[in-house]
Amino acid sequence: MKLSNYLIATLKEAPSDAETTSHQLMVRAGMIRKIAAGVYNFLPTGLRVFRKVENIIREEMDKAGAIEVMMPFVTPADLWNKSGRGEIYGKELLRFKDRADRDFCLGPTHEEVVTDMVDREVKSYKNLPITIYQIQPKFRDEIRPRFGVMRAREFTMKDAYSFDINEAGAEKSYINMFNAYKSIFDRCGLTYKAVEADSGNIGGSFSHEFMVLAETGEDLVLSCDKCDFAANVETTSIKENTSTVTGGTDLISANEISTPKMTSVDDIANFLKVSSGDIVKTLVLESDDDLIAVLIRGDHDLSLTKLKKFLSVNFLDFASEEVLKKRNIVKGFCGPIDLDIKIYSDNAIKLMTNFITGSNKLDFHSQGVNHDRDFPVESFGDFREAVDGDLCPCDDCVGTLSSTRGIEVGHVFKLGTKYSESMNATFADQDGKEKNYYMGCYGIGVGRVVAAAVEQNNDENGIRFPIALAPFQIVIISTDKKEGESLLKAREVYDFLLNLSYDVAIDDRNENPGVKFKDAELLGIPLQLRIGPKSLAKGLVEFKNRLSGEIIEIDKDNLELIKEKIDELLR
Ligand code: ATP
Ligand code: MG
Repeated sequence: MKLSNYLIATLKEAPSDAETTSHQLMVRAGMIRKIAAGVYNFLPTGLRVFRKVENIIREEMDKAGAIEVMMPFVTPADLWNKSGRGEIYGKELLRFKDRADRDFCLGPTHEEVVTDMVDREVKSYKNLPITIYQIQPKFRDEIRPRFGVMRAREFTMKDAYSFDINEAGAEKSYINMFNAYKSIFDRCGLTYKAVEADSGNIGGSFSHEFMVLAETGEDLVLSCDKCDFAANVETTSIKENTSTVTGGTDLISANEISTPKMTSVDDIANFLKVSSGDIVKTLVLESDDDLIAVLIRGDHDLSLTKLKKFLSVNFLDFASEEVLKKRNIVKGFCGPIDLDIKIYSDNAIKLMTNFITGSNKLDFHSQGVNHDRDFPVESFGDFREAVDGDLCPCDDCVGTLSSTRGIEVGHVFKLGTKYSESMNATFADQDGKEKNYYMGCYGIGVGRVVAAAVEQNNDENGIRFPIALAPFQIVIISTDKKEGESLLKAREVYDFLLNLSYDVAIDDRNENPGVKFKDAELLGIPLQLRIGPKSLAKGLVEFKNRLSGEIIEIDKDNLELIKEKIDELLR
């Protein structure tokens, strides 16, 4: 590629809405541009990186025996009604009508479309197992699109779906895809972890997420220091440590204390000179049917995912101030005593006596509170998020958990017969009976992989792309603006490498060398061959490895040696 005829759209400054390093760098490097919230153009260099990820994914999917198709972005609402998911998907599903008033939506994922397709085309067990995939745009009207293409509204996903005759077959397909994912992320040069995860909107019984480890990741991953356990905090079940019983065995009577304007756990802990773990928060939530309260220890956080699963509800969120007012619940001073809504209590509260809660009166708290005696508990359960130092939930393991942040780049699910049953999708089995397919589904966000790679590989000068993902592997930089010996030499090396099919660009733009060096660094081009009058006069050219920082000089006429050096670094 001749950069004089190309679009290098680098910027000095990152936009003010770019919070993460990858978002800042991708915009500054001229890879992406926002055209609406969560909707992006991929500019040429960005698209080159995107295609490299896409190609790796396609190669590994093909190698694993998956078959490529392309399903439409626009999907008829009928299919969503058939599976029953139209109702529960909520606002992420963008719905609209066509000119004949028929309902459609933009596909956020394609379980319905693929189940319908396979049901129509595959009639017999003889044609199974089969794994179908596509690499195609999705739309999710995310409530908070952010971090550039990391959490976009329109994004490209590789989504694959396996169809098997039974559970054992489905398990094999799952493992096959799991291993393909490992190859994909290895080839992308990412540091990642496969962790146990929640199945979310997709449903199903079992899933793993592939997490790229990065401080700015939106997900929290907990890993055991003694065994292989690693899981998203959303699903990490908790083995409460029964040796940390607090409050003593003698129950004191509950009494109210004046706590003016003290609405936070920290306020109360400071005022009463206790630890936040001696305080119990009463959180009020709105669910499908009514308000509920959940008790969580002051130093713990509620896991909405776990509670939602426990209650088997579609909707669960913190009650708004308005709703609280209507029910005479005093925000900041809510407590379980005399509260006329159902109270669920986290298991950690079981290990507490004589604790402190709100008293349902403005500016008052209660101390010496005890469950059962002072208020009824509808149910105890595991409702909190795991934290560093919690016990590993695995049976017989005595390890403790520690947390790291991660970016979810891929997700594999075992779906079982969830969709084939609801959509009545069947095949004729060997015994002649019609049976539901056993399914699995497997997603990778292509743009998110690019952003995660940038998040994990950068320095003060810009992106440090792994060789496999860089927009160009080599750039030949002529440091002389004018037509002259440097540019001629640069063209000669460029033609030589291009003929040998190297992924090479020549920076022959009419720009200062400083600009060209900066752009090469910012764009993360791993190998840079710098050709300028000074070194040429000594019969040399300069070769820089962006990843190691090493700069070496090579005889300008020894093109074979230049090639050898490149091969060495690409290996
Ligand atoms: P998240 O929890 O981050 O919203 P998800 O669980 O909704 O992800 P899946 O439905 O499993 O995601 O989608 C498969 C893959 O698609 C994800 O692993 C991720 O790489 C990608 N993906 C999902 N949502 C987005 C998005 N808004 N922008 C970019 N990529 C996305
Ligand atoms: Mg999501």
